[in-house]
Amino acid sequence: MAWRSSGSTNETLVENLARNGLITQDRVKKAMLAVDRAHYTPSSPYQDSPQTIGHRATISAPHMHAAACESLLPYLYPGVKVLDVGSGSGYLTHVIAELIKPDGKVVGVDHIQPLVDLSTANTRKSDEGRQLMDRGGIQYIKADGRLGWAKEAPYDAIHVGAAAASFHTELIEQLKAPGRLFMPVEEDGVQHIWVCDKKEDGTVTRKKDMGVRYVPLTDAPRT
Ligand code: SAH
Repeated sequence: MAWRSSGSTNETLVENLARNGLITQDRVKKAMLAVDRAHYTPSSPYQDSPQTIGHRATISAPHMHAAACESLLPYLYPGVKVLDVGSGSGYLTHVIAELIKPDGKVVGVDHIQPLVDLSTANTRKSDEGRQLMDRGGIQYIKADGRLGWAKEAPYDAIHVGAAAASFHTELIEQLKAPGRLFMPVEEDGVQHIWVCDKKEDGTVTRKKDMGVRYVPLTDAPRT
């Protein structure tokens, strides 16, 4: 799947993702067109593949960001609240903020301070990103994302950008009813995306989706 949607500009990358059926929703396309991936990774930004961003982290491939947005889309509307665990480069945090502006809020949590600083600097490279940050539409926080971020809970949608070893109860607890959690989970050395829905009556269903390869959701590195 990687590579075949690569482009030479942000626009051609997004158009190719749409042509190949990896973006099917107009709102997702519009949001990804609004955020230049080059602001979030200096190397090969328009290739449909992950890129290293330092600190053993990677910015995920554009088709994975598209898949996350498409899955969470029914819960992404102006005014909602979203948690992005393992926000890394900040790219997806910004795309989600585009989907829920003008009055939505996305909290990006990463446990590595230099990555929190990087995501902040990346987002501030564009006028739209700067405005979103200044208005409080995006907030980056250093914390252990396995515990969620209780202060802003509950969330209409939660995205996890690193592979978890289990379904962390805090994340499920911090989901609104209704709400949706999109997260990679590793079991027996194999990772899959799981989509957990909390229904209006509070019951939770889990659905196993595609096989993936994410960096692990871990303890913070010793400094
Ligand atoms: N969505 C990001 C993915 C970055 S890679 C992007 O596309 O840019 C995964 C990120 O998860 C890394 O930045 C890593 O620092 C972070 N991470 C890993 N374990 C974590 C934890 N326990 N709490 C918060 N962030 C964590």
